[in-house]
Amino acid sequence: MLPQVVIIGRPNVGKSTLFNRLVGKKLALVDDQPGVTRDRRFGDVELLGLKFQIVDTAGWEDEDAHSLPGRMRQQTEAALVGAAAALFVIDSRTGLTPLDEEIARYLQRSSVPITVVANKAEGKAGDAGIYEAFSLGFGDPVAMSAEHGEGVADLFEALLPTL
Ligand code: GDP
Ligand code: MG
Repeated sequence: MLPQVVIIGRPNVGKSTLFNRLVGKKLALVDDQPGVTRDRRFGDVELLGLKFQIVDTAGWEDEDAHSLPGRMRQQTEAALVGAAAALFVIDSRTGLTPLDEEIARYLQRSSVPITVVANKAEGKAGDAGIYEAFSLGFGDPVAMSAEHGEGVADLFEALLPTL
């Protein structure tokens, strides 16, 4: 069985785009509307000598930014069980939101190694958000653009020690 890497984050940060980028196929639905991905999706990744299964989640969709019903936590919790690593994706263009902070607090309690992915970092628009991402407490964020395929090598370098 391949080690599992789970993608976590609030709606619209680019989780499914990252999933598609890594798997190399349009397996996950990408949409401008939050809440498109309903279930977990699995894809096998083989790149730069690393092999793992990537899991796209939608556990924090349909959320009121100020409440976290147990069902959503349970979804994320279920996805994290047995995972080798998790990618916590944030949108470096919008910067951190209260929901990002809430997910971060939740993930701090997990024993799964977390790598923060500061997505949408192409160009200069993401610079402030990348800097903000340091404050989440998971170490150096990986700046990348899932849409433009930038930063994939940095992501693999960050994942390497966990797989
Ligand atoms: P999810 O809800 O987290 O799964 O987010 P999606 O993958 O569905 O993407 C949400 C929106 O962000 C879509 O309009 C994507 O095209 C856009 N997006 C994803 N990655 C990037 C990126 O690297 N840069 C920019 N500018 N937009 C992106
Ligand atoms: Mg999605």
